[in-house]
Amino acid sequence: MTNNSAIKILILDDEPFMHKLLARMLATLGYTSVATCDNGHIALEMIDSPDNSPNLILLDINMPEMDGLEFVRHLVERHYLGSLILVSGEDERMQQAAEKLAMAHKITVLGHLHKPASAQGLAELIGKWAAPSQNQPRAERKVYGADELRAAIANGELVNYYQPKVRTATGHVMGVETLVRWHHPQDGMVFPDQFIGVAEVHGLIDDLTWVVLTNALIQARLWQDAGLTLMVAVNLSVDNLNSLDFSDLVAGLAALAGVPPQMMELEVTETRLMEDLRTPLEILARLRLKRFRLSIDDFGTGNSSLAQLRDLPFDELKIDQSFVHGACGNDKLLAMFDSSLGLARQLEMEVVAEGVEDQADWDFVRQRGCDIAQGYFVARPMPAADLPAWIQSWQRVFAASI
Ligand code: C2E
Ligand code: MG
Ligand code: MG
Repeated sequence: MTNNSAIKILILDDEPFMHKLLARMLATLGYTSVATCDNGHIALEMIDSPDNSPNLILLDINMPEMDGLEFVRHLVERHYLGSLILVSGEDERMQQAAEKLAMAHKITVLGHLHKPASAQGLAELIGKWAAPSQNQPRAERKVYGADELRAAIANGELVNYYQPKVRTATGHVMGVETLVRWHHPQDGMVFPDQFIGVAEVHGLIDDLTWVVLTNALIQARLWQDAGLTLMVAVNLSVDNLNSLDFSDLVAGLAALAGVPPQMMELEVTETRLMEDLRTPLEILARLRLKRFRLSIDDFGTGNSSLAQLRDLPFDELKIDQSFVHGACGNDKLLAMFDSSLGLARQLEMEVVAEGVEDQADWDFVRQRGCDIAQGYFVARPMPAADLPAWIQSWQRVFAASI
């Protein structure tokens, strides 16, 4: 049990009214070490002084001078080890985007509260607070800004890698998933969890998606011409699904590349799909009508019900890697895996197991009758040029193992 007075809390908000409201709630809950501040610069000075540095910051996202997102970047630069609770009047999607961005930079976010916050909600989130462990230093991760990413997109620094997907029954390489990497001129290879959130929050995700999609379509056509029949999957962000002409644009791009929609698959993560989304669902339905395949990604990380899933026009369900790797030796993972598989079967979707990392995972997904496997055991994501040779060696190894 944490001693409430031991947590140093900072309320960072430009509205004095919120200082009073939150401070009163905190006092009622027994938190006595509480400071307030109305702009990011002063807050950073407090963080830099060892005596005043807070363990927990209640952060307003929308502030006039330095907004909450910029403030988070400064925290990352300082390797801040404390926790955040985001408090704002922004809508749920904006809050989730901000939370995702902060977490992508490995800052602990206990959750977000809508203004005006309730005492109960606040108590629940602070209840999750734990002192940072001293013997687990965080990996250093650079934070990229919007301008740098914008320039990278314009300069062609984003490169597609492709990870094979194979049928577990036959070993047949049925397709690939496109995974974007940033070939940074100084930092080398940068992975998507370090910049997709930045793109979403700063309105760059459409530009990013067009680059990835265009390159994937050009590559799909090259494979097609070389006689390789591969289903090519591309990840979409729900933030791409805001304008109703999206499906026409995608169809136009595919037609231009000469790739039939049946050979393209669009993945959207489960958690974001369960927001109240009318426009995105209409766009997905239109894409489905045009015969693109739709895939629900990271399944199991959200909490969709059968009824919600039934109304979505998906062809494929990808069980999240956290329920695949090691599932054969863990009853809880096994239960999650089996119920996801059962759900997909009822809805007649194809099932992909993500994160098949070792022989035990591979044997497990085959024995469970999961259709398709993807993961390091099969192959890591690779540049397009490496794929034909990999397919040949995989076929040899697979044939020999049967
Ligand atoms: P995802 O779509 O679920 O992709 C699978 C991720 O798991 C990839 O990480 C892949 O490299 C990794 N992975 C594959 N096999 C294994 C395994 O056996 N074990 C483990 N531990 N990991 C494995 P990556 O490439 O870093 O991508 C991370 C996420 O970034 C993706 O998750 C996807 O949500 C997002 N992303 C990637 N490219 C794009 C893109 O072009 N657009 C958008 N919007 N998101 C993208
Ligand atoms: Mg994916
Ligand atoms: Mg996934």
